[in-house]
Amino acid sequence: MTLSQVASSIPASPTIALNEEARLLREKGEPVIHLGIGEPKNKTPITAILSSAAKLSSGEVKYVPTDGLPSLKKAIVRYTEENYDRMVAPQNIIVSDGAKQSLFNILFTLLNPQDEVIVIAPYWVSYPEIVKMCSGIPVILTPEDGSFTPRFDEIEQAVSSYTKAIIVNSPNNPSGVIYPDELIEKIVGLCESRGIYMVCDDIYHKLVFDGKTAPPAYKYTDKDVENSKVIVVNGVAKLYGMTGFRIGWVVANKKMVEIMTNVQSQTTTCVSPVMQAAAEGALTGMQSVVESLRLTIQNNRDVLMQELRTFTDVHCVKPQGTFYALPDFRAYIRKSVAANSVELSNFLLKKTLVVTVPGKEFGMEGHLRLSYAGTVKELTEGIERMKWALDPNAPSEIYIGDRKLVRDWL
Ligand code: PMP
Repeated sequence: MTLSQVASSIPASPTIALNEEARLLREKGEPVIHLGIGEPKNKTPITAILSSAAKLSSGEVKYVPTDGLPSLKKAIVRYTEENYDRMVAPQNIIVSDGAKQSLFNILFTLLNPQDEVIVIAPYWVSYPEIVKMCSGIPVILTPEDGSFTPRFDEIEQAVSSYTKAIIVNSPNNPSGVIYPDELIEKIVGLCESRGIYMVCDDIYHKLVFDGKTAPPAYKYTDKDVENSKVIVVNGVAKLYGMTGFRIGWVVANKKMVEIMTNVQSQTTTCVSPVMQAAAEGALTGMQSVVESLRLTIQNNRDVLMQELRTFTDVHCVKPQGTFYALPDFRAYIRKSVAANSVELSNFLLKKTLVVTVPGKEFGMEGHLRLSYAGTVKELTEGIERMKWALDPNAPSEIYIGDRKLVRDWL
């Protein structure tokens, strides 16, 4: 029996697979430190809990409109006005099961076979795979100078007559960089003049540090949402740490929203009204929860940078947002502990029980993505364990409680 070639060619999401591996190790009682996961530790905002609890206890949990509950869409209209300075209509919005499904819907709606989508490295693991699932071709653009920010002329050169869209994720997962205002402005100009869609994955747009802001693409176009090529994706997963609620949304022109709604009606019918009520509660509740999450994460970023500075030969671009950093571990790869980032990440997991994500998954071999969404204790202990494992002069064994870790590779 032959199965779909496209489906069979799609690997499991490496970050999800690592989460599962960490969970199984924890279940066995292993003292795992998870620096792989993109999930803050905060509790769900109370307004989200109350709002979803009210929906649940109403006993009226039925099918709802495919494009989202009108009251949640109203909250998203307001969110868009407040944060993007854009007037949008409810018909410009579709709510989905997480930003991941939002991105799938967008690309499924945009792409014909062989259409190209420019994906800028380092990139979020799922972009190339979603493009492929939608019959498109991901065109990976890796900044030549080894930085995490492309030059505009590199983007221009990557454009061909088949280019349908450019995905822009700033603040960026995995590097934490924010693309400069001029770059965003130029990409908007390029997209509007060449008729290319600019898909802005803004899921981290409020998780920014040191007073910086991530310029929204809308700032650089006079066109209204109906006529602009800018499409915005957002959601509650990172904004409020509500990863398990699975609510994302898209702001786009009405025609696209109509098609995405038809597609969604054939795939998921609608998003659970209990979860939508939670998202509405978060969006309309006290926004100080976002600020407090941001401050916690910024402090974690500072701790991580401090820890990494004491790590010989590891260089790290200071993240300006998100809860990830992408330090360069090439020195250690060269020292032959591992031949590449996948081996290094495996080595660290086996020897130190610290979960990291190999840079290869983000199109940046030689690096490891570290998440600082957890606690300061996890961060410092995780880096200490990594330093121990990679230092040839360190003792060959250490104890974590009564668990002995042995660095037997030397
Ligand atoms: N985009 C980026 C850049 C992400 O990092 C993630 C989650 N890791 C998503 C989209 C998906 O978010 P959600 O959990 O809402 O599907």
